[in-house]
Amino acid sequence: MRHLILAVVVSLAAAAAFAATPTTAPLHGGVVTTTEAHAFETLLTPQGVRVFLYTDELAPAYVEKATGTAKLKLPDGRILDLALKAREPAAGEPTSYFCPMHPAVVRFAPGKCELCGGMVLYVQDHLFGAADLTGVDLSKVSAMIRVTGMRGGEKEATFAPAFSTPDKKAGVGTTGSK
Ligand SMILES: [Zn+2]
Repeated sequence: MRHLILAVVVSLAAAAAFAATPTTAPLHGGVVTTTEAHAFETLLTPQGVRVFLYTDELAPAYVEKATGTAKLKLPDGRILDLALKAREPAAGEPTSYFCPMHPAVVRFAPGKCELCGGMVLYVQDHLFGAADLTGVDLSKVSAMIRVTGMRGGEKEATFAPAFSTPDKKAGVGTTGSK
């Protein structure tokens, strides 16, 4: 009987841990913008801009062959044109791990997908554009992001994430083209 109770407690704890893990964007504290067939999570940091790709159902997606550009307008009027290239999270950055086959399987620590027979979860990569934004009020930066070379019906998208309204998690895509 004691073992049974212990098993129930352990499984309840596991269920609670699972429920507490968000499975959709934003997973890294960024601003989400949805376009025709994708969603993007954009973060500004003192080191530059990071753009995570998601499916239209907000499940993590790999960058694959996508690249892009970002045009940043700083509060002092300066314009920065950045090239966006795929990279994995650097040490200390929030990192998500996902199963490409099972959108509900998302973790913030390395793990395996039991539904795939124990396949090791993938690290969600992102597009990164380096810029020294030290000392810049990031909430006053405006950005126009263009991502090209994506897979599927929507191969490229252009959008302006709404950094200035941090409470608003869902931005509106400005354009999306096939
Ligand atoms: Zn899986």
